[in-house]
Amino acid sequence: MQLDDATPDQLQALEARLAADHQAFVDRGLALDLTRGKPSAEQLTLSDALDGILQGDYRAGDGTDTRNYGGLDGLPEARRLGAALMGVDAGDVLVGGNSSLTLMYQAMLVAHRFGLAGPDSAWSRQGTVKVLCPVPGYDRHFTVCEQLGIEMVTVDMTAGGPDMDRVEALLAADPSIKAMWCVPKYSNPTGVVYSDATVERIAGLGRIAGEGFRVFWDNAYAVHDLRGFRPLASISEACARQGTQDSVLQFGSTSKITHAGSGVAFMAASALNLGGFKRFLNACTIGPDKVNQLRTVRLLPDRDALMAHMQRHAEVLAPRFKVVLDTLDAHFADSDLGRWERPDGGYFVSFDTRPGVASAAVALAAAAGVKLTPAGATFPHGHDPLDRNIRIAPSVPTLPELEVAMQVFVTCVKLASVRAALAG
Ligand code: PMP
Repeated sequence: MQLDDATPDQLQALEARLAADHQAFVDRGLALDLTRGKPSAEQLTLSDALDGILQGDYRAGDGTDTRNYGGLDGLPEARRLGAALMGVDAGDVLVGGNSSLTLMYQAMLVAHRFGLAGPDSAWSRQGTVKVLCPVPGYDRHFTVCEQLGIEMVTVDMTAGGPDMDRVEALLAADPSIKAMWCVPKYSNPTGVVYSDATVERIAGLGRIAGEGFRVFWDNAYAVHDLRGFRPLASISEACARQGTQDSVLQFGSTSKITHAGSGVAFMAASALNLGGFKRFLNACTIGPDKVNQLRTVRLLPDRDALMAHMQRHAEVLAPRFKVVLDTLDAHFADSDLGRWERPDGGYFVSFDTRPGVASAAVALAAAAGVKLTPAGATFPHGHDPLDRNIRIAPSVPTLPELEVAMQVFVTCVKLASVRAALAG
């Protein structure tokens, strides 16, 4: 279907037909949810062996009694798991609690308020603070900035990662830009994996940017491949080559590997950054939940175990992504109604409608009982200037539910597009 070629009469006829299809969905009283990217119960069950896995043996490899206080860096074996997950040295890893988002929030707070390299390095002492946000991006990254009163500067995503010409030009021109968010593998929501050239250029940003600049490298989907492991160029090695080790903070977690609410989070950084972070952390906690760290390591003792486990996740997730992509292909291939990515991993399919259509499509879907992430959520302050990006999260519904939800989705996108064309 090419809306741009349709006559007003054809548009009217189409609108009537689609409105009837939509009403038929409304009448079914559906209650389906394609919003948050969380694992399905079937995926969570893959890690149920966590329960009781310690069998009363709470001793870590070095003899630590994990039930007690202490161990701010995390258990050595948990640091090794984080290292295997993120492709870094275990000595550079700090193991936190159940959420990498917490570590990211805390790291940004420290950089802003206390200074990772001592009080004089605090961003807040240097006037206005801005952060680069590739868009569409992860809404919770934006919320962190919003809450800390940090300005967000958007940069478009391309097929190889953020638009690096723009990133470099912005950083060279504006020393008040202090950080950049990155989801380098299966980016939320576009599914893009940063190219080797992008990774190399990001490692070089520390030499272009002003004092105290940090990349927040949120590698949330490091091993979340649907079709076999896809390597990501090592940002640590690129930084080592370029002498910019202090400019990148890396994050990851087992939230979407084991049980999402009781995963283990990791941060990897240079000694300078970890030192600054731990001065803060030491005031917050006497130590993380090492019992959970030990349970997690017993379930996933090495990289082979981790990859075998992720293969089982892929077997659950891949058919769901196939339903989404097959439905989009069947309805929108060769049309001017939308564009989307074909991710090989992660949790999302990012769909761009024609400009000015996304919020109407999301509202129509809600009326038909299909919840979608609010249009605009993938942009700072919830504002998509072109009102066109919709994030589809297919992990939770069953396959039959997803089939129906996607039929509703395509109907709503078509109806909203036709109405916009009639109005415009
Ligand atoms: N980063 C990204 C890019 C995510 O998509 C998510 C989960 N939706 C998180 C971080 C949250 O991770 P955690 O559970 O470790 O806080």
